[in-house]
Amino acid sequence: MTYQLFEVSDASANISCPYCDQAVLDWTQEQYIQPCEHTLFMAMDLGFEFIADRFEAALSQSVDEIHDDPNMNIYATVTQAKYLNIQIFKADLGVEGMFRYIGFSKE
Ligand SMILES: [Zn+2]
Repeated sequence: MTYQLFEVSDASANISCPYCDQAVLDWTQEQYIQPCEHTLFMAMDLGFEFIADRFEAALSQSVDEIHDDPNMNIYATVTQAKYLNIQIFKADLGVEGMFRYIGFSKE
């Protein structure tokens, strides 16, 4: 797959879709995860929070299988997906070595 990676070091920063500008991670909302139509996935190292059907179909395993895998590696999983031109935002969770990953695609 092809992707561009953007690193966000501020754990409290909102993250907006690069295509429609919707805040998909919006800390002012009680439900702070607000995927837009361009959002392919939102995940932490601990597992997926949201995944679009078209992106799950591009993975080699289902999300349930990924979550059941004791060697789960979310970043490796999403970057090995058969999907082109993804923009991935990698945000620091404020916990040592833990990140949130949000993937966007125009299609
Ligand atoms: Zn969008």
